Amino acid sequence: MQYDHIIIRYGEIALKGKNRKVFTNQLSDNIAKKLKQFSAIKISMHRDRMYIVLNGENPKKIIEKCKNIFGIQSLSLAVKTTNEVTDIKEAALNVLTKEPNVKTFKVTTKRANKEFPIGSQEFNHVLGGHLLSNTNDYKVDVHQPDIEIRVDIRKKATYITSKKILGAGGLPVGSSGKTLLLMSGGIDSPVAGYLTMKRGVQVEAIHFHSPPYTSERAKQKVLDLAERLTEFGGKVKVHVVPFTKLQQKIYREIPHGYSMTVMRRMMLRISEHIAKQEGILSLTTGESLGQVASQTMESMNAINEVTNFPIIRPLIAMDKEDIIKIAEHIETYEISIRPFEDCCTVFVPNAPKTKPKTDKVKYLEELIDFTNDFSETIANVQTIEVSEEEQKKKDLFDLL
Ligand code: ATP
Ligand code: MG
Repeated sequence: MQYDHIIIRYGEIALKGKNRKVFTNQLSDNIAKKLKQFSAIKISMHRDRMYIVLNGENPKKIIEKCKNIFGIQSLSLAVKTTNEVTDIKEAALNVLTKEPNVKTFKVTTKRANKEFPIGSQEFNHVLGGHLLSNTNDYKVDVHQPDIEIRVDIRKKATYITSKKILGAGGLPVGSSGKTLLLMSGGIDSPVAGYLTMKRGVQVEAIHFHSPPYTSERAKQKVLDLAERLTEFGGKVKVHVVPFTKLQQKIYREIPHGYSMTVMRRMMLRISEHIAKQEGILSLTTGESLGQVASQTMESMNAINEVTNFPIIRPLIAMDKEDIIKIAEHIETYEISIRPFEDCCTVFVPNAPKTKPKTDKVKYLEELIDFTNDFSETIANVQTIEVSEEEQKKKDLFDLL
């Protein structure tokens, strides 16, 4: 008897009240999209869990894919059988003997179906006895077993599982709206995107580039990072903003101590504009308090002043080391450290103010008319849709 089902357990979704359906429907959609290539599978949705009916598809590959789907707390391979004691015994014996390197086991029965005639405790003994008398080398160990045979007796069927695999946690992407992620090509912003996705948010990205000061490869790097993010949240739109003209003007017209602050304010204004165009209600950045000059309390205050949009900063209280760990885990780190100049590094003055004053920034900005440059920049934004398909093609290419 082969494992024929995968049980998907919800984490936080299980705590949702009336609108739980919104979350479970989203999760089911996301799973279906992610597993599109496994055409035989069926997803069946229940109040407290989902089942993927394998119909002969490769469970290992499916579990690997599911590990990156937010909203899944844990997964288990399962054998489905009837509620007949003899069938349960046979299936449990199969599950036990199929696992390699197992010497000790424990049976845990959960009887959601109270019509089942034997109590959970008693059934643990009945089944444990059956397993012992039909095998040679196994022992029961209730404290630290090599394997736990879990028997879940439900209304219409019984599911037998052995291992719980940890899922990605969080909420299904798409269940908490959309954000526009300011993505630089550095280490931090993709991690910020990933963590926002984890809270159920769909991500679009905006990238400011300044050709010829920044190269085509710097832009490609951002597209590659976006591609990695599709692994966790489906397709990602990337809005590429031609920032050269505005940056040159800022650099030329604004005293150098303040040019970084003005440039950041401009980035936020443009981001807000694009977000509104796309019907997006928040911005997300990879800022982390105190990391660089633009991320001091005073800088953030002066920069943030241009927008009323909520700015999500998932990394604000994180240390760089912890951010890097996540970047490695989601495989963006290697892409982020490719050595191409970012528009902000090219134009950053030697000594940007770490404590800019908002009044002074506003005064300096009022002396210059940015209206035409702003409109021209917005008009020339290039939007590229990065999809998982491209990621898959690349995977395939890597294999050849
Ligand atoms: P990152 O590693 O994400 O580049 P950082 O530590 O280098 O972050 P900064 O360069 O100060 O920090 O940027 C802070 C945040 O501003 C970034 O996390 C990102 O959200 C946004 N940002 C910076 N440069 C760009 C850019 N060229 N395009 C879009 N967003 C940017
Ligand atoms: Mg940066």
